[in-house]
Order: sequence, then C-alpha cells, then structure tokens
Amino acid sequence: MMDRVVLKKGRDKSIRQGHPWIFSGAIENSLQCSPGTILPIYSSDGEFLAQGYFNPDQSLAGRIFTWKEGEAKALLKESLENAHACRKRLGDLKGTNAYRLVNGEGDGIPGLIVDVYGEIGVIQIHTSGVEALRSFFVECLEELLDLKGIYEKSTSPARLEEGLEPFVGVLLGEVPESVEIEENGLRFLVSPSLGQKTGFFLDQRAMRLSLEGLARGKSVLSLFSYTGGFGLFALKGGALKATSVDISESACAFAQRNKELNGLEAHEVIVSDAFAYLENEPLDQDLVLLDPPAFAKKKRHQAKALKGYERLNFLALSKMKKGSLLMTSSCSHHIDES
Ligand code: SAH
Repeated sequence: MMDRVVLKKGRDKSIRQGHPWIFSGAIENSLQCSPGTILPIYSSDGEFLAQGYFNPDQSLAGRIFTWKEGEAKALLKESLENAHACRKRLGDLKGTNAYRLVNGEGDGIPGLIVDVYGEIGVIQIHTSGVEALRSFFVECLEELLDLKGIYEKSTSPARLEEGLEPFVGVLLGEVPESVEIEENGLRFLVSPSLGQKTGFFLDQRAMRLSLEGLARGKSVLSLFSYTGGFGLFALKGGALKATSVDISESACAFAQRNKELNGLEAHEVIVSDAFAYLENEPLDQDLVLLDPPAFAKKKRHQAKALKGYERLNFLALSKMKKGSLLMTSSCSHHIDES
C-alpha cells in the first residue's frame, strides 16, 4: 500500500497556487489505493504540499482538502466549523433559516454539499473520499447543528463518473416529506425527497430578494418557476399579479401550496413547457423572469446550450412589451456571464 502521492517534476505549480484538483497524469508513483483513500501529497523533491482523497480509477484522481499537515479528520472537521462560522456571520440570514452550509471545494471539502432547511440537513456526496467518510460527516453535523434529521440526496451524474451508485435516504433522525422554511420573510415548503436537487434553489436567494425591490405595481411572469419563489417575492414586493410556469407538475403543486402558505392570492401557477408558453401566449407582463435548468452540463454541450439560451431569451425579448424588464439566469457552469 502506498503512503504518499509524489507529483512529477514541475507539476506542483497549480497546487501551490491553491488549486484543489490533481489529475492522474501529474502523479509520479503509480496510484495503488482503494477509492476514497486519504494520502499526503509531495513534490518531486520531497516537499509536503497538501492532503487529499484519491480515486485511482479516475483521471481526476485527487481532491485536496487541506494544505496543512495533521490528522485528516480533525482538519476536515475544522473546515466544517469554519463553513458554519462563516455563514453565521452573514447578516443576510435574517428571516432566513435555509442556506447552503457546505459548498464543496469552496469550503475545503471537495464533493460534499450540505444544505440546511431549518432543522433538517440535506447532504449530497459526489466523491469517493467523502463517501468513505459519510458517517463521520453525519456525526460532525449532528454535533455542530441542532438538527432533527439528515437526509441524503446523492443523485447527481457526477457520482456515476466517480464510480458511485446513486443513493437516497435518511441518515439521521426523522425527515418529513416536506419541511417549512423561511427565506427573507416568506415561507416555503421544501421536499428533499420529492423536490429537485436538495429541495430548494438556495443559490437564487439574492435574485429573489432583488426582485422584491423591482416588482411594485408590476405584472410578473416567471418561466421555469419551480416552487414559485420568484412569483411570491414579486408579490411580496407589491406586484399586482404573478404568473409562474413550470413543466413539473410536482413543482407546480408545491408552488400552489406555497402561495396558500403565504396568503399571496394573486399568484397563478401554470403547468406548461416554457418554450411552448412563450410561443403561444401573449407576453404582456411588465417583468419577465427566465431561470431554466442547466443547458450545458458538460463542456461539449457548450455550443448547443448557447443556441438554447439564445433561442429562449430571443423568444422572450421579441414578444415582451416595450419598456418591460427581463431578468434572466443561467446555471450552466460552462457558460459565462458574457
Ligand atoms: N427560479 C426557481 C428555480 C428554477 S429551477 C426558484 O427560484 O426556485 C428550473 C426549473 O425549470 C425546474 O423547476 C424545472 O422543472 C423547470 N423546467 C425544466 N424544463 C422546463 C421546460 N421545458 N419548461 C418549463 N419548465 C421547465
């Protein structure tokens, strides 16, 4: 069994600069370990660089979780605590009890996502390194937060690439079919098991909040509306009417329940394909929102995805009335802002 990873000469630069990935081609000694093994990483002249978890079956063979020496679990726990302390400092969690606690590499734990929905934690595991430490992370989360339950929703395609089967289930305590959360003063039902991803698109919190400030007196159309977040924030901000359109019947059923939960009656929820809606309905709203799913999940889909974004935004812009406002989003990693 190997006890360290040694990099080829000259292949340590990106790691010294803080990049957390190691490709198999950069490794000098042959990688012989089971998937998820934690190993220290050394430069070709024997200098300690970092520690990571390794998967010998992947070209993206190593993920660094620390540039420090020391006991791996203690360092991972420290990263989790830092992530928690960092979120606690954020003033924008007032009136909000749902947030992403751990965002993979961004928090020094590659392959782990933890979303907190009130007293329920939902985790996603994307790497064999985190997979091997599942129960350790559950214990740490139990210690750190006051949780009634932890649910795992590991269904992303990234898992298959890592050689892991999908996994879904309760890891700790009890997890109801849906939990009520609060975001900037509105209430939402979130279902980790029935919903998409971990249950709620927390990454659009800032967009939902800014929409609240733009919607007064306006009619609003939200396409790809999921459980109605945009429409409800528009109404909270004084919109006259909001229409939410989504292809998923289940998402629309939750949008309907969220409307009732907040007593925001002027919210119409329509199950429809957004493209068909754009083609067939008049667009007489003052404010239109587009928030489609990722069209480019892989780099090779970039060109096709750009055509899709162009078609969608063009369809909307060409039908929207003069002086109306478009708020558009893309969640494709491979498509940049410009
Ligand atoms: N803005 C939402 C998140 C949208 S996620 C929020 O703030 O919560 C993207 C949504 O697009 C999903 O709900 C998915 O069901 C929906 N969707 C995917 N393809 C669609 C299509 N062709 N037409 C309409 N909705 C679609």
